[in-house]
Amino acid sequence: MKTDKLAKAYRVENGKHFRLKGFDPADTGHWRSKEHAEEALQQGIARTAELQSMLYAQDRWALLLIFQAMDAAGKDGIIKHVMSGVNPQGCQVYSFKAPSDLELQHDFLWRTTRCLPERGHIGIFNRSYYEEVLVVRVHPQILQSQKTPPVLCGKNIWEERFEDIRSFERHMARSGTVIRKFFLHVSKKEQKKRFLARLDEPEKNWKFSASDIKERQYWDDYQGAYEDMIRNTASEHAPWYVVPADNKWFTRIVVSGVIVETLESLDLAYPKVDEQKRRELEAAKKQLMAKK
Ligand code: ATP
Ligand code: MG
Repeated sequence: MKTDKLAKAYRVENGKHFRLKGFDPADTGHWRSKEHAEEALQQGIARTAELQSMLYAQDRWALLLIFQAMDAAGKDGIIKHVMSGVNPQGCQVYSFKAPSDLELQHDFLWRTTRCLPERGHIGIFNRSYYEEVLVVRVHPQILQSQKTPPVLCGKNIWEERFEDIRSFERHMARSGTVIRKFFLHVSKKEQKKRFLARLDEPEKNWKFSASDIKERQYWDDYQGAYEDMIRNTASEHAPWYVVPADNKWFTRIVVSGVIVETLESLDLAYPKVDEQKRRELEAAKKQLMAKK
């Protein structure tokens, strides 16, 4: 079965009427099982590797993939699996945690801007500037530690941040950075199951953090913040994908399908060799063949 329809099914380009309720975290489309999806995933991974190689050689476009999710939705696993075939030389992954003192000395887009992918590269953000309208919105007291002058933190602050993010993404798109944003949509029930596995299975213990349980208590607030974020920042040039995340095997084929579809839409090709370069190659070959 092909994955090309998957990207469209979960894409949000216009958030005006977006409701998170319309998306089921346990959805698996027409796909029945992990075994059923495995072959498609392997094909997607192989195709991504081919396309990345052309992206790199062509050196025009950059691709930025942003992952946002509740804890235990599987961000790390997705990044590991879906990007497993790509050449590490053309791909950078950055994880954004609570900001450092230095980062707080700057505007909220500063730290991520420093990590944007250069042309020919794929950049992956594991969390991003979107935390500024998620965790900070759910815990507005964080605003005080951000050192923004209080007079600039009025009641329109979230609307202003959305506007800044929209402008930033439009600017990036116009400069040749293609942005695709993934919200891994896990259910509260599945999160509980995964937390329990982290507590019960010794090899998963390291993944558990007490703060994860604390954040779980704000589940509904987070869902509201995610919904509003998607409503306000989904666009044609930087769409959100609301990816069902209760079944990891399905999350993987959807994300992989989106990456392949996006790269294929760029009309990538290896640079053509001009006449002068062709002569150079021929001369080099002659030289190599002439000597031992
Ligand atoms: P993850 O939770 O992404 O798997 P982790 O467990 O290794 O990664 P944590 O120490 O939990 O890392 O760091 C992520 C935490 O940092 C999240 O709770 C997130 O909300 C928080 N965070 C990220 N960006 C910001 C921000 N701009 N302001 C405040 N907190 C932030
Ligand atoms: Mg964490």
